[in-house]
Amino acid sequence: MHFFKYRSGELFAEDIPVRKLAEKYGTPLYIYSYNTLLRHFKAYADAFNGYQHIICFAVKSNSNTAILRLFAKNGGGADIVSGGELYIALQAGIPSKKIVYAGVGKTEDEIRFALKSKILMFNVESENELREIDRVAGKMKTKAPIALRINPDIDPGTHPYITTGLKKYKFGIPIEEALEYYKLASKLKNIDVIGVHKHIGSQITKVAPFVDALKRVLILIDELRAQGVEIKYLDAGGGLGISYKDEEPPVPKDLAKNLIPLLEGRKLTLIMEPGRSIVGNAGILVTKTLYLKKGEDKEFVIVDAGMNDLIRPSLYEAYHHIVPVIRNKRDSIISDVVGPICESGDFLARKRELKRLKQGEYLAVMSAGAYGFSMSSNYNSRPRVAEVLVKDEKHFLIRKRQTYADLTRDEHIPAFLK
Ligand SMILES: *Cc1c(COP(=O)(O)O)cnc(C)c1O
Repeated sequence: MHFFKYRSGELFAEDIPVRKLAEKYGTPLYIYSYNTLLRHFKAYADAFNGYQHIICFAVKSNSNTAILRLFAKNGGGADIVSGGELYIALQAGIPSKKIVYAGVGKTEDEIRFALKSKILMFNVESENELREIDRVAGKMKTKAPIALRINPDIDPGTHPYITTGLKKYKFGIPIEEALEYYKLASKLKNIDVIGVHKHIGSQITKVAPFVDALKRVLILIDELRAQGVEIKYLDAGGGLGISYKDEEPPVPKDLAKNLIPLLEGRKLTLIMEPGRSIVGNAGILVTKTLYLKKGEDKEFVIVDAGMNDLIRPSLYEAYHHIVPVIRNKRDSIISDVVGPICESGDFLARKRELKRLKQGEYLAVMSAGAYGFSMSSNYNSRPRVAEVLVKDEKHFLIRKRQTYADLTRDEHIPAFLK
């Protein structure tokens, strides 16, 4: 459910015509719907209401401070994977005690920053990382709260690039070895074992993998208790899918209905780390048709948004609906919607049936709120685009478009070249 709908043939973002925003702010342009974001966040909060929990939004899916602030104001926490994300989450007003930190390559500086900020816990991905966190905490004369990220070896049935909970991938600690690692962790002087973490992948469209993975983790928690290691936090990760094309993924309520009964009677705090399922369908990328070019068996629609603005189609062959901002009754033709970047892999859609377009018309790339702007780059020296938040009939610029000067702002010419 989202608030990008047609009214009399014209696409609206909440109560504002998308065309007006494109004219005012220019294209390409990311537009987010406040009420969709809020609704999706609350869907999680309400679904898990019956059990002690924290919703830690996965910052990597969308790291705009205004959006993080929205979640902070509604009781949300953050799942971070870098020092930069920690900085942004704190800037946005997310309480440090609601921040969990994953990622296989945390540096000493990042560990220090997180310890100094007193985050809720580190989700540790290897033995050497555990020893490093112990060492750094020791130097800082503090104790590091940790969970071990367990790899439950469950196939979530999604794209290999966004699968994480299988043995062959770099994430987490194999579940068979978990007990051993926990024993080690409990012995380390500057480590405080408080949780278990798992995250099995992204864009998961079934409940079963979540249930199976949770069951495996609960067995581990029982074994740990028997050995005297008391777990307080069960971090179940994120990964719930959204509808890009015709998927019918479960909603948070379905997830809660299946997970909470497994947790009942246990004195745990459940942590959820949703990213895509909150922001994905709450954002669109608006782009303008620059040129139409006849190919042999299809038409190339050349638009002003490229793979640097939205890389998901190029990187994962991901599907995004592409719709006209103003509907028309022209005939349909097979089109490749491509960007201006000098790469053959620069496309937003391939062999897509689209109504014949005219130069200068606006298109909306749907479901672009997650892993859209946050994965964007300056490739081909293209300034990063603007982001706008719409609430009812009001709109707010939440990130201004970069200028050409921004492109060279951080560079220096050595004296000998001056
Ligand atoms: C990416 C990630 C998430 C969020 O995944 P979504 O599919 O966007 O919900 C949650 N936890 C961890 C550890 C992640 O790496």
